[in-house]
Amino acid sequence: MDFLRPLTWEDALAAKAEHPDAVPIQGGTDVMVEMNFDVHRPPALLDLNPVRELTGWDSVDGRLRIGAGVPYVRLIEELGDRLPGLAQASRTVGSPQIRNRGTVGGNLGAASPAGDSHPPLVAGDAVIEVESAARGTRMIPATGFYTGVKRNALEPDELIRAFWTDPAPGPQYFSKIGTRNAMVIAVCSFAIALNPETRRVGTGVGSAAPTPRRATAAEDFLSAELDWENRGPLSVAAAQRFAELVKEAASPIDDVRGTADYRKHALSVMARRTLTWAWNDYRGAVPGTGEGKEAS
Ligand SMILES: Cc1cc2nc3c(=O)[nH]c(=O)nc-3n(C[C@H](O)[C@H](O)[C@H](O)COP(=O)(O)OP(=O)(O)OC[C@H]3O[C@@H](n4cnc5c(N)ncnc54)[C@H](O)[C@@H]3O)c2cc1C
Repeated sequence: MDFLRPLTWEDALAAKAEHPDAVPIQGGTDVMVEMNFDVHRPPALLDLNPVRELTGWDSVDGRLRIGAGVPYVRLIEELGDRLPGLAQASRTVGSPQIRNRGTVGGNLGAASPAGDSHPPLVAGDAVIEVESAARGTRMIPATGFYTGVKRNALEPDELIRAFWTDPAPGPQYFSKIGTRNAMVIAVCSFAIALNPETRRVGTGVGSAAPTPRRATAAEDFLSAELDWENRGPLSVAAAQRFAELVKEAASPIDDVRGTADYRKHALSVMARRTLTWAWNDYRGAVPGTGEGKEAS
């Protein structure tokens, strides 16, 4: 097996163009597991770790551009205040060791429907920046990036450079159901992002369809229903309808981690809970006062 070790982004793109079957490796927390279990023996590995362009993040015209090689631990520590939904999801990934090595770029590359970064990326309207030596940059909205189970929109000569997203314009939450509390692949997961400026609600459903997806009917319903102007209370009926529409957006399967019915039920519970937390934040409700108490 060849081991390619470019030192710059340009060299990495040139190497990928020359060796389209080379498998990029960043944190290696997916790639090495697959190799150890003989799931995949690529002819070459393309080590992106020396490529410094991938490990930084920046604010460009108010929008965040985060390198594909920024590990979860840095997302949590450096960007947790600006991207609370993604930071919450990052805190649930694996163990401290995995969060030190693993990256959103790798999560996108693997494109597992259960990947924890996907729901907040989708809910927050993230855009994935990919590049090839031959055709330059493509900007792909997160919703269009996932094309099937463990499949994404990358061409063989393309690499993920970064993802772009706005600093949270309002409350964001992520919730994940697992078979235990830590070191667990999501049975299903859900992210919500409120945008009070545009009066829109973003959602992301994870591990409940072949790809991460939005619950668009739920978003449309809730965006029109919420009393953005007066920050009025959340009605039980609205929360329940939102939960129902999120559930309807899912098309899960029965597998070793859970049944389709369980996933749908869990999604509706997570949708209602995260909406209640987010709306309470928006209203400035004081926890424990009963104000905006969870609709049930
Ligand atoms: C013990 C354990 C626990 C885990 N727990 C979780 C969990 O709770 N939640 C979760 O979501 N995941 C979990 N994972 C999976 C893994 O940690 C994540 O998917 C992580 O985000 C992968 O990032 P990485 O940098 O290690 O990717 P790598 O393993 O380096 O790469 C993953 C894939 O992305 C591709 N890739 C990497 N970088 C690029 C790039 N710049 N351009 C194009 N393709 C690229 C690779 O070729 C590969 O296909 C776990 C893994 C282990 C081993």
